[in-house]
Amino acid sequence: MRFPFSNTVSSSRKSHGTRNWIQPEANKASSLRSVIMETPIPDYLYLALKQYNGLDARPIVNVGDKVLKGQKIAEARDEFGVPVHAPTSGMVAAISRHPYPDEFGSDAIALCIKTDGLDRWIPRQPEDDLHTLSAQQLIKKIREAGIISLAGSGEFPNREPIDTLIINGAECEPYVTCNQALIREHPENIISGAKILLQIYRAKHCIIAIEENSTDAIDALKPALEDQSIELNLVPARYPASSDKQLIQVLTKKEVPASKRPEDIGVSIINAAAAAAIHNAIISGEPLISRVTTVCGDTLKTPKNFRALIGTPVAFLFELCGIDYSRLSRVVMGGSLTGITLNNLDTPLIKTSDCLIAGSSQEFPSAPTAHECIRCGFCSSACPVGLMPQQLYNSIRAGMTDKAQQQGLDDCIECGACAYICPSHIPLVQYYRYAKFELKDQNVRYEQSRKWQRRFEYRQHRLLENEKRKQGNRHRSLARPEIIETTDTALENFSREQASIEIADAVARVKARKNKKNSEDKT
Ligand code: SF4
Ligand code: SF4
Repeated sequence: MRFPFSNTVSSSRKSHGTRNWIQPEANKASSLRSVIMETPIPDYLYLALKQYNGLDARPIVNVGDKVLKGQKIAEARDEFGVPVHAPTSGMVAAISRHPYPDEFGSDAIALCIKTDGLDRWIPRQPEDDLHTLSAQQLIKKIREAGIISLAGSGEFPNREPIDTLIINGAECEPYVTCNQALIREHPENIISGAKILLQIYRAKHCIIAIEENSTDAIDALKPALEDQSIELNLVPARYPASSDKQLIQVLTKKEVPASKRPEDIGVSIINAAAAAAIHNAIISGEPLISRVTTVCGDTLKTPKNFRALIGTPVAFLFELCGIDYSRLSRVVMGGSLTGITLNNLDTPLIKTSDCLIAGSSQEFPSAPTAHECIRCGFCSSACPVGLMPQQLYNSIRAGMTDKAQQQGLDDCIECGACAYICPSHIPLVQYYRYAKFELKDQNVRYEQSRKWQRRFEYRQHRLLENEKRKQGNRHRSLARPEIIETTDTALENFSREQASIEIADAVARVKARKNKKNSEDKT
């Protein structure tokens, strides 16, 4: 993977505090020229049951069922998953495998809705007085609305003691402008979502972070923030300043320790789009069924930000922008540094899809041949979390993913700064993703084998207990024959001859008694 940025390696390295940044070409202007456009309703929507982490959601509708806009069609199966709602009215046409946006180009189970064009809502239940709701009730409503953080990381934090709440409106990754567009057009929704989150977390400070060069968003937000207890904070327009841990460091001067979450140091960070979705869920009673997505790239005539329904196929959005298929070389979901390449234009939008790039071969030339690591150390100085990327790479290449994990692989935020700066063009992030997948797979297999081992041990235990019980019964049944044995022995000793003598004696005694009684009666 390689991207065509114009900066030279040395001039692109910038320092901010103790960490380093890179400054790739922004490529943001074209999608910000127009306002956010509502997409028309596609004929078919494909709602992946996996919208983020956790187990796939469980469908609660069947093929052939009619559904209304906003109706829950699949429920979360664990605390990491989210429910899925119908983005418009129509009929469930299929529940089957469909292309899915992940780095392996795999597919996943999706609910296919044939839309009816009527866009009929279920009855919505907006909250008139949210101050009557407890924090737990609000969290439950947000989860039921299917909201995740809407950034690439997607997570919506649980309630913890929180000191600082950060609404992340910064987008330092090239091409992505959906937050900037949302803030400049709907600042009040983001502030309303932030206030709901403040009611939940009771945080002492609330900061909305935007990049310093997003002047239109800053201009829109400033007047809306007057008389509010929410601060606006500008962050450097450098990559990866808006990734969670880096942003926390810039804004609070606190560092999230390795393998820890922001909540562990009393900070909660939520994407600006998620704050707006929370406003929609609580104030308007609308679940998360659409999102603002940047659709851009050299092959599009009119790049723009869309409010698109979740489940919309990528090709549908590209066609709305006038795509020139003859020039299309590469399709990326996400920004150009951390996004994933899509191989199928039927792949649908999921809740974390913030950007789609339809790139030409000039924009995304083929990756140059990777050479051996020359130990220049550029990657270490570019890494914003202070890792040694070349060490991780060497360990992974040697097949020692466990060692890479000890070297901090889990803390790698996959920002791509190291790969961007590497003069040997080594696709470092691909190695890290592969290793993380391997480790995850190993963990899953380990957990699976532990589960089977526990089952096996339980079965062995049960068999042993059964055996013991049987033996106990046998002992008891063996104890009875001891008594019987006496009887048996007596029976054995009781000969047939003796028996017939005794019977004859008894018969004789009965006869004698009868005769005696008869003679007494006669006298
Ligand atoms: S991985 Fe690339 S940037 Fe890092 S030390 Fe090796 S050659 Fe240099
Ligand atoms: S991808 Fe990982 S290792 Fe490379 S610079 Fe980013 S955080 Fe560091």
